[in-house]
Amino acid sequence: MTQHSPASPTNWDAPAPEPAPRPKPNAAGLSRRELSALVQALGEPAFRTRQLFEGLYRHRYEGWDRFTALSKPLRAALAERAALAWPVITEALASEDGATKHAFRLDDGQQVEGVFMPYAHRTTLCLSSQVGCAMGCTFCATGLMGIVRNLTAAEIVGQVVAMLNHHRVPPETRVNLVFMGMGEPLHNLDHVMEAFRILTDPEGLALSPRRITVSTSGLVPGIQKLATFAKRPRLALSLNGTTDAYRSRIMPVNRVWNLQALAEALEAFPLEKGERITLEYVLLQGVTDSLEDGRRLAAFARRFPSKVNLIPFNPHEGSGFVAPSEARVSELCDLLAARKVTVSVRRSRGQDVAGACGQLVREGGRHKKKEAAAEPVRRGLP
Ligand code: SAH
Ligand code: SF4
Repeated sequence: MTQHSPASPTNWDAPAPEPAPRPKPNAAGLSRRELSALVQALGEPAFRTRQLFEGLYRHRYEGWDRFTALSKPLRAALAERAALAWPVITEALASEDGATKHAFRLDDGQQVEGVFMPYAHRTTLCLSSQVGCAMGCTFCATGLMGIVRNLTAAEIVGQVVAMLNHHRVPPETRVNLVFMGMGEPLHNLDHVMEAFRILTDPEGLALSPRRITVSTSGLVPGIQKLATFAKRPRLALSLNGTTDAYRSRIMPVNRVWNLQALAEALEAFPLEKGERITLEYVLLQGVTDSLEDGRRLAAFARRFPSKVNLIPFNPHEGSGFVAPSEARVSELCDLLAARKVTVSVRRSRGQDVAGACGQLVREGGRHKKKEAAAEPVRRGLP
């Protein structure tokens, strides 16, 4: 297991480490370009790339033997040259509210988490973008891990396919994706955008770009870079503090890009018609949940088209923070609504199975409700 370096405010200055190359390529999660290289290496005609792409992402096949449109010798040649292995779900913890939290084991033995949340007319998947996180937010279980490495685009796509297959989600289901699991997606923007292109490709999973949201702790250069893409996911910002003094205490990134820098980046962010930036706001009792905070949050939210999502703190061992009272949550809701701010409260789904990001990997071994676990979980942390 990799040793984690303690998070420091300089961790995100450098790119996060990449995984070591695999001895044999894994086709699961590859882009068209990468699949086309595989097709070429086999001396096959170019149209095979599309067949592979459709098999992987439209049909979500789990083995080369499922590619029955291809001849047996070709399937054998593919199997010789490349694995087809989606991330392995080593743990699936079903919550009473219908959400299932998953631990995925990656090729190098690292672990990340994803959450499956079924609703009446759609399914929302919460994805990880990195193993650990460099941002070091003090209230966050993932932040306490430090950064281990970036996920590849294939590993990001792999979480989606693995969860959809595990839950046998029919292809016509509307799927929403939120990058609100482990990691800072804008610290791994290249791979997140590559995954976004694969996931939204009309010949594959064909997810709607409008239904994909990346959540950032406030990496201003990342926000500016995201703004340059013609097709891009929606943006959510984890505000979590309304004064620089308090925000810097819980989110070290604020010491580099403060609230003013953030507000300016968000004001400049080009929005489509009807698009709004989500402001996530974690309520920590006595730290971020005063009525004054509510008033400043409303003022911040009115600077650009936005909606606010209040997130009562999801406690985890050793964090030292406490969830707000129910009364305070509704007071803040009313205060924001009275100021014409669209507000919702995120009742952290899967709370009884350690719902907030990073908590499954950190709290391992203490959950009661286990759904089929494929094999024993190797914990990400000691
Ligand atoms: N790194 C990105 C996305 C992952 S965190 C970001 O920070 O935005 C997703 C959300 O979970 C963030 O809004 C974060 O503030 C929130 N969060 C983290 N730990 C939490 C906890 N223990 N309770 C409630 N929300 C938490
Ligand atoms: Fe990283 Fe987000 Fe957790 Fe902060 S809240 S440490 S940015 S995952």
